[in-house]
Amino acid sequence: MRIVLVGPPKNLEIPHISTGDLFRANISQGTPLGREAKSYMDAGNLVPDSVTIAMAEDRMEQADAANGFLLDGFPRNLGQAKALDEYLKDKHLTLDAVLDLEVPEDEVVKRIAGRRICRNDSSHVFHAEYNKPKAEGVCDTCGGELYQRDDDREETVRKRLEVYHTETEPIIDYYKAQDLVVTIPAMGKVDEVTKRSMAALPSRDA
Ligand code: AMP
Repeated sequence: MRIVLVGPPKNLEIPHISTGDLFRANISQGTPLGREAKSYMDAGNLVPDSVTIAMAEDRMEQADAANGFLLDGFPRNLGQAKALDEYLKDKHLTLDAVLDLEVPEDEVVKRIAGRRICRNDSSHVFHAEYNKPKAEGVCDTCGGELYQRDDDREETVRKRLEVYHTETEPIIDYYKAQDLVVTIPAMGKVDEVTKRSMAALPSRDA
């Protein structure tokens, strides 16, 4: 099963590939790729396609992705969407679904600006208001330190939303033309939205 998420993924037994997480791992390891990506990310802009597409393809080549993957945050513009199509076509593969999570813009800002992430594992995610950890600043799951991403501050979030509208939103029509888009009303609790998302996935094997 190959899925693109435009806009939380669990229980699918396929890797969750987040280009944002890959960039952040490169930044914390101090790699040249991380150094290049950081200035774009801090400004709320997209990292150039040349760098991003190669990194995403590299990740999709890894053994754990052989039976499928969930792409989160990639593709993020038409160039990336077309490159992904070419990549998959070469391998005689197709996408199964593109999930478009619909949330009002003010809610997006609230969700992102309140987000707190564990330094040990970026899948341990809390929220200053909606999902408070038991002890402030400490991950309930592993005891790691919780932090706010630099680009989750409100002004950068607003910039990222602008970039979303101009660069990313057009890919929804691109995938609609391929009949792949499933729109999910994404207000409500994480568990509820996860349930809705899982129920909306086509029942096809990898
Ligand atoms: P995310 O973790 O998906 O919110 O991404 C954080 C930041 O990483 C974005 O604001 C971009 O600067 C960069 N980024 C992540 N994925 C992509 C992508 N597919 N194309 C370009 N930049 C990306």
